Amino acid sequence: MKSLLSCLFLLSVGMLSAAEPEWKKGNIHTHSFWSDGNQFPEMIASWYKERGYDFLSLSDHNILSKGEKWMPIARLKSRGGSDILEKYLQAYGKDWVVTRGEGEKLEVRLKTLAEFRVGLEKDGDFLMIQSEEISDRSQGVPVHMNATNIQEVIPPQGGATVREAMTNNLRAVAEQSRRTGKPIVLHLNHPNFGYAVTAEDLAAVVQERYVEIYNGHPGVNVLGDNDHASVEQIWDIANTIRLTQLSAAPLYGVGTDDSHHYHGRGTSRPGRSWIMVRCDSLDADQITTKISQGDFYSSSGVTLKDVQFDARKQKLELIVDGEEGVTYTTQFIGTRKTADLSSQEKKAANGKIVTRIYSKDVGAVLATVSGTNPVYQFKGDELYVRAVVTSSKPHVDPTLPDQTEQAWTQPVGWSIPNRRSR
Ligand SMILES: [Zn+2]
Ligand SMILES: [Zn+2]
Repeated sequence: MKSLLSCLFLLSVGMLSAAEPEWKKGNIHTHSFWSDGNQFPEMIASWYKERGYDFLSLSDHNILSKGEKWMPIARLKSRGGSDILEKYLQAYGKDWVVTRGEGEKLEVRLKTLAEFRVGLEKDGDFLMIQSEEISDRSQGVPVHMNATNIQEVIPPQGGATVREAMTNNLRAVAEQSRRTGKPIVLHLNHPNFGYAVTAEDLAAVVQERYVEIYNGHPGVNVLGDNDHASVEQIWDIANTIRLTQLSAAPLYGVGTDDSHHYHGRGTSRPGRSWIMVRCDSLDADQITTKISQGDFYSSSGVTLKDVQFDARKQKLELIVDGEEGVTYTTQFIGTRKTADLSSQEKKAANGKIVTRIYSKDVGAVLATVSGTNPVYQFKGDELYVRAVVTSSKPHVDPTLPDQTEQAWTQPVGWSIPNRRSR
């Protein structure tokens, strides 16, 4: 009887959790001592776990947290501060920390993901998802792409052009995904870092489905400059080109930290932006699949209780988890089918063509709504619509002037031949 009851209980819990997906919070772009970060990987993961994140990907450059890697004490101190080893020992104890040599010759072995994930994941309330920042270069600029849920390291594939490099890396990831049977999300990082990837590049490489629309690293030109579009404008331009000229699905927008610097040192800090993925269990394959289905939003502070697009009623509705004393303004942004899609070349002072300029119709503000329950009713002439919620609350660690907390939802209401958005 007892076992029958517990079986029934487990069944009902299982059904309940399957029926009621929850938002899981995670950051999928982080660096550690495994590449150019300034902290031990398990210290970083603990930082996120203690602050209520559900999952984390350490995405070091062209390496997984795997195999043997020893770090000389001088390098640890120059990056992480003179007391970096003392703090590590304080947090984890002598039995955990592995060293060899003495004095100036002392080296510390970095723990592998397989080693440090055990303690972090043991209660089932936190998940590490293996990742790599495939850090490529083409035409003299960086082409960086994050592979979330990657199973084996993929070296940068290179290419004669930025588009070719993106395509080659996408192909390598797709091949691994097919071979291993594991879903992998490969998102394009910081397009404006080095002004490397233009809206037209992003549009053209239609196999790419994700782009960072906010990245907490202060050096990645999120807002663009006089010669370059902002990352959000790039997102809208690329999606408009795809839907009008390429019969291709739009890109989803990803918010990340791209954190390198911890314990108060440096400018590329954790906790600035993340994604919220709707799923019913903390499982790497499910989270990755949900991202690929666009069932997530990005945030730099604003939390949403719900995002619903009703395809039948052609209605996009958000419910903001409002905080007392904070106001919320939602812009519904999109491009109409009647938009002026012409563009002109824009040249920099040296005569080089740096970007193309589009009319304000591309990524136009279609409606602005105040409050915690913004709704957009489609009129029928939109190529797609997305929402950006901006709060009156200052960002906790801003990288942009007068930055307040925001949330970005994915483009909906779009359709291409043989395919329709959810
Ligand atoms: Zn990068
Ligand atoms: Zn990075």
